Amino acid sequence: MNKFPGSALIMITVFCSAAALCPAAAPEQKGREYKPPSSCEPYIRVAVLRNVDSIGLKVNGEFHIYDAATGRRLLQEKNARWTVTSGQKGISAGGHLFSAGGIIIRSRDRNEIYLNGRRFRGEMRLIGKNGSLLAVNYVGLEDYIKGIFIRESSHYWPPEVLKAEAIVFRSFALYRAAENSSRDYDVTCDVYSQVYGGMTAERYRTNKMVKDTEGMVLVYDGRIFPAYYHSACGGRTEDAAKLWNINLPPLKGVACGYCGESPHSRWSRTLSNKEVSSKLHAESSVGVPQITVITPGSRDASGRMEELTFSFEDGGTRTISAKEFRQLLGPDVIKSTDFEARLSGAGIIFEGAGWGHGVGLCQWGAYFMAKQGASYAQILSHYYPGTQIAELGSFKSGDSKAAGGRR
Ligand SMILES: [Zn+2]
Repeated sequence: MNKFPGSALIMITVFCSAAALCPAAAPEQKGREYKPPSSCEPYIRVAVLRNVDSIGLKVNGEFHIYDAATGRRLLQEKNARWTVTSGQKGISAGGHLFSAGGIIIRSRDRNEIYLNGRRFRGEMRLIGKNGSLLAVNYVGLEDYIKGIFIRESSHYWPPEVLKAEAIVFRSFALYRAAENSSRDYDVTCDVYSQVYGGMTAERYRTNKMVKDTEGMVLVYDGRIFPAYYHSACGGRTEDAAKLWNINLPPLKGVACGYCGESPHSRWSRTLSNKEVSSKLHAESSVGVPQITVITPGSRDASGRMEELTFSFEDGGTRTISAKEFRQLLGPDVIKSTDFEARLSGAGIIFEGAGWGHGVGLCQWGAYFMAKQGASYAQILSHYYPGTQIAELGSFKSGDSKAAGGRR
């Protein structure tokens, strides 16, 4: 008996003609345009280092360096171990001076580039920016997902939740890439995008789940779906419109019902009165007034606090949105906006539920759904009602918001 009724999904499997003609291996890469291993695969531009003075670069085997602006080949080298720096005259590496506009480092084996000890697939672009360096990894979508998996989840989790997450990560990456297509890079490698560790962070099991769901994405209304996710919702997922300018029926919030046993279902944190007050007074910790009263404001439909008001001993008050307050104190300190705060002799005690912004897939809820026998399609249907799973081939052209925008 299916214990997850109503979760049937329509599977769109329309392959584009180009997909059917994909060569097994891409031809030798030339020029400035990046081509992933499979020529029908989208790619992601990940800023792996920003505003750094120098970079330790190691490349095993044969590699080429191209001018990032013109695509002209500048050098052919082997087995380099260089320190790369950027200055007024350009980028210095291995006794060579290149234009600050940037260079492309292309390893013959596509997976033999190391930056500061971390190994990357794809190719690397180094760009000089006001005397510092920006390193952008151009990597095929599937390899990118392999490189974020264990940083965003756990390779010990059940297969069905990992498959669901692979589809979520892929969709979210493409959504971000479409948003940032006019910038130097699509995503950063930190929590503001998805945490990316390159090839160094890959594991056998998560790589297999990426392979098992290859090219599968979530769509809504014919477009790549912004598949937001978070660690644990604490009971009910949040309406995306409460946090960002995103008003989509699948992101309106659902009763989770599965994450109650997660290690993050409840949290508490005690902070000193002075610490909280100084954050509320533009970081100045000298002579900040004591907080005397905390007044909770309204809560939204998911139960999360919308705003709260602090009163101080000097008669001042400050009303702040719970979202801003969480950012101010740190999202890992105030783990969610579903909390209560009270003054005590020890300081201010915060007690709350869940971890993260609460929008979209609740990862711990998905974990417990999989433990109870749910499939990846049932998990996705539960947290993103109304979305469909599709193959990337169905989004080949005509929609700049979809994967075809940079195929
Ligand atoms: Zn949940």
